[in-house]
Amino acid sequence: MDDEDPSPLRRFVEAKRSITSIFDQLLDFVKDGSTFVDEAWRGDDLGPVALEEQNLELLSCVSKLWTIREVLLRRHMKVAFFGRTSNGKSTVINALLRDRVLPSGLGHTTNCFLSVEGTDGDEAYLHPEASTERRSLTTVNQLAHALHMDPTLESGSLVKVFWPKSCCALLRDDLVLMDSPGTDVTLELDSWIDKFCLDADVFVLVGNAESTLMNTEKLFFHKVSERISKPNIFILLNRWDASVTEPEYMEEVRKQHVDRCVSFLAEELRTVGLDEAPGRVFFISAKEVLSSRMQRAQGMPETGGALAEGFQDRLREFQRFERTFEEFISQSAVKTKFEQHTVTGRQVTEDITAVMDDINIASADRKICCLEEREEQRDRLDFVRGQMNHLRDNVRDKIKTLSEDVAAKVTSALSDQTCSLPVLVEEFRADFSPTHENLQIYKTKLLQHVEERLVGCLSHRCSPSVLRDIRDAQRHMTDSVRPLLSLSVQEQLFAPSSCFELTYDLGLAVLCADFQENIEFQFSLGWTALVSRFIGAANAKRALSGCGPRPQVRCLRFDPRQLFVVSLCPNVVSLQEDEMVLSTATGLVSVTSRASMTVLVIAGVVWRSVGWRPVFVSLSLYTLLYLYEKLTWTDSNRERVLKQQVVAHAARRLRAVIPVVSSACSQQVCKEVMATLGRASQRVELREAELEAHVRQLSLRIQRLENIQRRSKAFRNRATELETQLDSFSARYLQGN
Ligand code: GDP
Repeated sequence: MDDEDPSPLRRFVEAKRSITSIFDQLLDFVKDGSTFVDEAWRGDDLGPVALEEQNLELLSCVSKLWTIREVLLRRHMKVAFFGRTSNGKSTVINALLRDRVLPSGLGHTTNCFLSVEGTDGDEAYLHPEASTERRSLTTVNQLAHALHMDPTLESGSLVKVFWPKSCCALLRDDLVLMDSPGTDVTLELDSWIDKFCLDADVFVLVGNAESTLMNTEKLFFHKVSERISKPNIFILLNRWDASVTEPEYMEEVRKQHVDRCVSFLAEELRTVGLDEAPGRVFFISAKEVLSSRMQRAQGMPETGGALAEGFQDRLREFQRFERTFEEFISQSAVKTKFEQHTVTGRQVTEDITAVMDDINIASADRKICCLEEREEQRDRLDFVRGQMNHLRDNVRDKIKTLSEDVAAKVTSALSDQTCSLPVLVEEFRADFSPTHENLQIYKTKLLQHVEERLVGCLSHRCSPSVLRDIRDAQRHMTDSVRPLLSLSVQEQLFAPSSCFELTYDLGLAVLCADFQENIEFQFSLGWTALVSRFIGAANAKRALSGCGPRPQVRCLRFDPRQLFVVSLCPNVVSLQEDEMVLSTATGLVSVTSRASMTVLVIAGVVWRSVGWRPVFVSLSLYTLLYLYEKLTWTDSNRERVLKQQVVAHAARRLRAVIPVVSSACSQQVCKEVMATLGRASQRVELREAELEAHVRQLSLRIQRLENIQRRSKAFRNRATELETQLDSFSARYLQGN
């Protein structure tokens, strides 16, 4: 009875599945790793964190793993059967497959190798190595016929027979059985070995128990063991059923066979030790096993009546061979087919671990540099901001001081100039004529002249020192700001605006717009002059012209300066006071008018009391004086009086606007210095923005480096994980066998 234990071949299948899965993961992992290293190498603006060699190494790992994976998928266990023609190789293969798959008993009419492997389909077919065409097979005779008749099948070529896995359990487990032409039919042993034997896991020498091992068979295995170190060789002594004809010699014959085979394996080939060698020799009858298995498969009794004595022993021996062979081939195939790949896989994981460690270290180093640089940039930014705030405060204080200085200087200069107004007016020369039009032109020119001279004097006295102060303030700002800026900007740093000029806009024409000259003849002892001397010219005029108790309010054109004058002019401010004086004067005049008659009466009384002579003399003198003054009242006198009036008026107005003019000058200075501060602030703000952008860029870099670090660590961990899987694969399938 065949045993139903799970086949040891499953071990290979499981191992193949396991290592294929590990290599699938490894391949995906290395592909991802390669992409990662490629990115790290290219680096973009970050600069390379990985080296080109590392990138190439990963790429080579990918291609290496890709090849291994392809090879793994094609990996199977291969057992090659050798022996002389008609020793029963095909029959042994059929017995193992439990079906008549290969033709037997025909002898090998061709020199082809025949491999049998499973197919997932339901249909058997053959596939000559040299052809792309598949030929379907329904019976073994068709195969025999095909092999026999096909002229295209060359000596030493391979014909692959695909047999449905559903029909044969052995073929489900990635096993390929290869039948060979008899070792006696060729001299091309070397090329056979190269072509078909190097990847065989187990060699089965099918000998004939009725004869001894031939030299051709031995020679073949000698050649095999020259190429492959310690090949796994089993020797089947077939046709053992024939031994029943001479039972008395059976044990002796068996012993002779065993001794020769052990000597061959252990002493000649040295593939196994003397103690192990007997375990590699089996006495079987493939024909009986095949026949019994086929009958059983068809539901018939195993013995079928035709089996010779001792069949059960031979069947057990065949089963023992099957079991031993399966264990061997499984173990051997796992080792030979997967061990090297496991080692390669491990090397790959180690290489990747090393690469990832290097990248991790490189990115950590780069990150430290970036962190330090960012810290430095932040400090610099704080410093720039602090310095700029400090400078702003400083400049504000400076502007305050400067404004006060300028105001003081202008006030003092303008006051002095106001005092020297008579000189300025006096030096004015122009044609004077008392007609209205000429007077207007004369006054305009006079005021222009006075203003020009005033401005000239003010400029001369104030401008140089004020400009020097401004330059000092600007230089201070430039010097303070320069270290805060980058070198390229420092060069083009605010050139002081050389076009600045302090302007003194006195607006004398506007200020004196209400000026009304009085150049009419006035007798110095006349009534009006006396009244004027008594109560002041303006009030006297108003009083004498009889324009009532209400003073005429001047209607000035709108001008802030005039408003200021109006608000500050003591004459205007003290309107009420004037009104009081005016009412007193008016009252006085009215009193005088009423008393004029009384005066005449008194004059009559005087006349009568002192006589007419003193009166006459007095009147004559008075009249002579009047005539004298009247005759000497020329244009030059009028001009002199006009100038005096202009001086008085302009001086009054100028005194009123001194604060306004000085404040305007302060404002100009303030504006100029503020403009410089504004330009400096602008530059510094640009610098701040530059530093901020740099800090942001460094933060991004740090983030990306951290990401690279994290990813390289993850890759490393994954490599370790895969290494562990490879180790456990090794421990489970490769070690201890
Ligand atoms: P091959 O050329 O080595 O493949 O040998 P075959 O398998 O074709 O077998 C040659 C002949 O030997 C066939 O007629 C088989 O029936 C016969 N044969 C194979 N095995 C046995 C066996 O165990 N006992 C006997 N008596 N005949 C066998």
